[in-house]
Amino acid sequence: MDRQQEFVLRTIEERNVRFVRLWFTDVVGQLKSVAIAPAEVESAFDEGIGFDGSSIEGLSRIYESDMLLQPDPSTFQVLPWRGDHEPTSRMFCDILTPDGEPSASDTRGVLKNVLSKAAGMGFTCYTSPEIEFYLLKSKDLGASGFPEPVDSESYFDHTPGGVVQDFRRKAVTTLEEIGISVEFSHHETGPGQNEIDLRHADALQTADNIMSFRTVIKEVALSQRIYATFMPKPFTEHAGSGMHTHFSLFEGDTNAFFEAGAEFQLSRTAKHFIAGVLKHAPEFTSVTNQFVNSYKRLWGGGEAPSYVSWGHNNRSALVRVPLYKPNKMQSARMEYRGIDSAANPYLAYAVILSAGLRGIENEYELGGAVTEDIAAMTSAERRAMGYHALPTSLHDAILHTEESEFMAETLGERVFEQFLRNKRQDWNAFRAEVTPYELKNNLGIL
Ligand code: GLN
Ligand code: MG
Ligand code: MG
Ligand code: MG
Repeated sequence: MDRQQEFVLRTIEERNVRFVRLWFTDVVGQLKSVAIAPAEVESAFDEGIGFDGSSIEGLSRIYESDMLLQPDPSTFQVLPWRGDHEPTSRMFCDILTPDGEPSASDTRGVLKNVLSKAAGMGFTCYTSPEIEFYLLKSKDLGASGFPEPVDSESYFDHTPGGVVQDFRRKAVTTLEEIGISVEFSHHETGPGQNEIDLRHADALQTADNIMSFRTVIKEVALSQRIYATFMPKPFTEHAGSGMHTHFSLFEGDTNAFFEAGAEFQLSRTAKHFIAGVLKHAPEFTSVTNQFVNSYKRLWGGGEAPSYVSWGHNNRSALVRVPLYKPNKMQSARMEYRGIDSAANPYLAYAVILSAGLRGIENEYELGGAVTEDIAAMTSAERRAMGYHALPTSLHDAILHTEESEFMAETLGERVFEQFLRNKRQDWNAFRAEVTPYELKNNLGIL
């Protein structure tokens, strides 16, 4: 038993923890949980805890449904929102096959594979997400046919005593209590829309943090009798919820994206990385934007990107190189603005990082930065400038992914197939459904 495992066992005893939840994530990013008794934890570390994976989305096939969960002791945390009565804790898990091998269906494992490739190239990957979401009065729809937001405030608004302020204070405190550092939180442009930005951490820890974050936000909302949603575009008229993420690669203490005196202080490594991300973006958009509704955000204005491009002070760009502190080596990074708040963070970070690493390996050339608003150009202008569109629908995104050797390699055959199967089902169900739009426009046809 290693020191982290011993620490977990000791803490469980000292704090009289009654339940240990084992957390893992299905292929579309739903958090799954199974509670075990403290007495089981030691053997969970040693040999894993068996469970039936057959009904978990994308996890295993019916005829090989026995799986093992092996908790990662570095993720042990007592959950403050369960109260002090019968304390409850959690650990994130890796999924193993009955032979004790990493399961090819585990999306956390997909990210770990990409990170070990990065480590082989000498890099540690840091990420920090800006997570947007809406706060609603309840899950029920109002008379307008849309959900009802908790307020009608807008960007950076400050309302003394508002429900949203209480919410953000409690959410941030709870996140800090479970070791997730918050850098920034504010009201976003939509009514009831909020953003919370997490401090950078290594990519695996960030993905775990995002899963915890969603649970915390949902729990805090429930405790205040409101409802939080990470749906990419709940309102036709208001901006969608993005999960812009900042990426940087470090070699030891040195930020490999930084080069003093270069244009935008960007190193060659950074430029190749960005070129790789841009090249593969249409292929991986089914992962970063995985729902039918995701494309309402990408193509619905509200500062969401629709075209493959990069820039430094341009909010229509898919990749942005922020210049808040351009001379500070530590803060050099690129921001990917395509991803939405409903993505599976393990898969989303795996595909973005993998695309960037390919760019570095193959020394892809980065084209020029955009300075104008691409959405405002004519399509002929865009074509002339070489700006390709992101997929326009889930169907379009699936077609790009299906053809992609890059995606098959990054996800591994198993996740690649399971993911696509799930997405095709989703698209086919949507395609079959008659929508309010059609009834509104077609019922009166003569
Ligand atoms: N809500 C926008 C999006 O979906 C982002 C707005 C912003 O943070 N500038 O990407
Ligand atoms: Mg922001
Ligand atoms: Mg924002
Ligand atoms: Mg941003």
